[in-house]
Amino acid sequence: MNVDLQKVRELCDPSRDQKIFVDDIIIEKGALKHLPSIMKEKYGQFKNVVMICDQNTYEAAGKKVEQLLPAIHTVILDPTDLHANEIGVAAAEKELNQYGDVDFMIACGSGTIHDITRYHAYNRKINFLSIPTAASVDGFVSTVAAMTWHGFKKSFTAVSPVFVLADSEIFSHAPARLTASGVGDLIGKYTSICDWKIAHAVTGEYISMPVVEWEQEILKDLIDNLDGIGKHDFKAYENLMYGLLLSGLAMQMIGNSRPASGAEHHCSHLWEMAAINEPIDFLHGEKVGVGLCLVSAVYKRALAKLKEGNYTVKSHMDVETDFIKEHFKNETLQKAILEENTPNLMADITADQLKAKEAEIITILEELPSAEQIIGWMKKVNALTTIEELTLDESLRPLTLKLSPYVRQRLTFMRLLKFYDFYDEVIEG
Ligand SMILES: [Zn+2]
Repeated sequence: MNVDLQKVRELCDPSRDQKIFVDDIIIEKGALKHLPSIMKEKYGQFKNVVMICDQNTYEAAGKKVEQLLPAIHTVILDPTDLHANEIGVAAAEKELNQYGDVDFMIACGSGTIHDITRYHAYNRKINFLSIPTAASVDGFVSTVAAMTWHGFKKSFTAVSPVFVLADSEIFSHAPARLTASGVGDLIGKYTSICDWKIAHAVTGEYISMPVVEWEQEILKDLIDNLDGIGKHDFKAYENLMYGLLLSGLAMQMIGNSRPASGAEHHCSHLWEMAAINEPIDFLHGEKVGVGLCLVSAVYKRALAKLKEGNYTVKSHMDVETDFIKEHFKNETLQKAILEENTPNLMADITADQLKAKEAEIITILEELPSAEQIIGWMKKVNALTTIEELTLDESLRPLTLKLSPYVRQRLTFMRLLKFYDFYDEVIEG
């Protein structure tokens, strides 16, 4: 599958300094065989190359990489409880240090391995090449490392890989759960885009319509290929990987995660903070996918209320400080959340503004597929769709929806809903 990065570059707005950092992407069956020529022709100046993988991804692809590049050093991490956190970073660092002045890295694995690698590549001011072993997340080409640092979710400035070599022979054989997680992360763009459009309509926040249209095409392709993923068709897997990588490039271009993360991701981040729930151990896309199912149901109920008319809107909406303090009991976390919400993201939003934008908001919400439709699509790949499947009690659903908008300084429709008198009703469902 050919990825035309020139076409992607043309979507960049130079006046906003938008750019992508990836030289090239190859997605095909047997792509790995190109590795020696790529390393020789493009990165031949680098002599001390280290690959980071874990025991599973070493078996899946790392072994083959060693055969293709006999001179490289390999760091094999223990996959048990391996996360993109201070422990995973330290484990890789210890191994890396024994190889002296490393001048290039290869990340061979899924999201965690990539985040650990990009963290070290950034600190060492070196480049890395990506070999994704599962179509599990859209973060492979991210420029930030999404980490949990001493229990708190944190994004570190890091680097994108300069090259992505995605071999469908490898990633189509990843555990089905990882692929379903990739579907969850990508299909979550339905509400990310919806939130971005509504925020733009209400506040005039910057939006790139070429990027939005491009993401809508990616979503359409994803839906068309879900049956193929269920049937284990190579092309459908390649299409999913393509969508995930393009979604990552959209974030690179815009310079933040706005195109790919909205209210559905906020649910996931809240659960990861374990403020209202016991810690859960699920994949990123599994949590995002469930978030999407919950959020889209609320948005559609709100749409019905907006269309009915006959509602009132608060004149202003303060940050619910007491509500935040009540549920974020951990002092460090509470402080971080309160800081995140200073200043109040909605301070300048008025009832008149929301009323004036009603028709536009309705149109955007009408474009969103229904929760039932989304759940039907996700079930084709056996993705998780309910909060109970994440081992969380159903009683946490309304609280998740009310509290999660505070985990990030980013305007979503879920946050704006706090203005409307039908808020509780549409949240409870
Ligand atoms: Zn995501």
